[in-house]
Amino acid sequence: MNKFAIAVHGGAGTILRSQMSVEKEKEYQEGLLSALHAGNKILEAGGASLDAVEAAICVLEDNPLFNAGKGAVFTHDGTHEMDASIMNGKTLEAGAVAGITGLKNPIILAKAIMEHSGHVLLCGEGAAEFARKMNLPFENDEYFFTQQRYDQLLEIRDSEKTELDHSDSKEKKFGTVGAVALDIHGNLAAGTSTGGMTNKRYGRAGDSPIIGAGTYANNKTCAISCTGHGEYFIRAVVAYDISCLMEYKGYTLEQACNEVVYKKLVDLGGEGGLIAIDAQGNIQLPFNSEGMYRGMKKSDGDFVVSIYKD
Ligand code: ASP
Repeated sequence: MNKFAIAVHGGAGTILRSQMSVEKEKEYQEGLLSALHAGNKILEAGGASLDAVEAAICVLEDNPLFNAGKGAVFTHDGTHEMDASIMNGKTLEAGAVAGITGLKNPIILAKAIMEHSGHVLLCGEGAAEFARKMNLPFENDEYFFTQQRYDQLLEIRDSEKTELDHSDSKEKKFGTVGAVALDIHGNLAAGTSTGGMTNKRYGRAGDSPIIGAGTYANNKTCAISCTGHGEYFIRAVVAYDISCLMEYKGYTLEQACNEVVYKKLVDLGGEGGLIAIDAQGNIQLPFNSEGMYRGMKKSDGDFVVSIYKD
């Protein structure tokens, strides 16, 4: 059988072993494992990488530990505005949503936008209208309320600060989610979903819904999903840059990831990381922050779930 593989992330940032309890660590690992399992099941059965990415991200969106879907962080106004995107490496089709409120699984909407809207990126109320047309499920405010996230907002609401939900504050343990996969047909796909940054306002969107910045997939090169301080990832066009280094300069996946995550982003001051897979099923999980919730599983048996640097 041809190779297949999947990688997932649950956010990068100041994630320190010293701040994590054994139980919490286990919960995160289990969350990542369930996502890997959901995607792997589809790949194993010969399904499409796009469906595997969507399934893995749905599991993470439904888990309140991660800053996407149910666990999305609060905006300055005490609401949730979620962003997501997905890309098909075979066709270069892409779909994305920015600033959607109340939708249970933004990644499903991103895929529906790609497949049924004739557009790539829909925002805010218009995106919600399209989601209703697609009969996608919405949830009430209670579903999205988590005490920890609300406390994170209260800590900084009176300041001009926006914050990665896992950096800078006492609670630094949650994050944006993403998945990348290669299926047995040789097709790559990538997807990312997030609540963005705590205390964001003015309709701020980060890199997650921006194709080429937070998400990119191309069968010729690689599939990438990013997490970190979105403004820097947009300016460095991170996901597409890695693909370009491979396509135009002949870099390996590892060389391209190292160049962008450890040099370009660091020079700009951009903290974060990404998951990456190439058409041969090689996987890279680089980050320049303290930690990144991450995991990967390959058809040859290679398997990793980890959180910290070491
Ligand atoms: N990249 C996301 C954003 O800036 C945040 C994250 O990765 O946690 O919206």
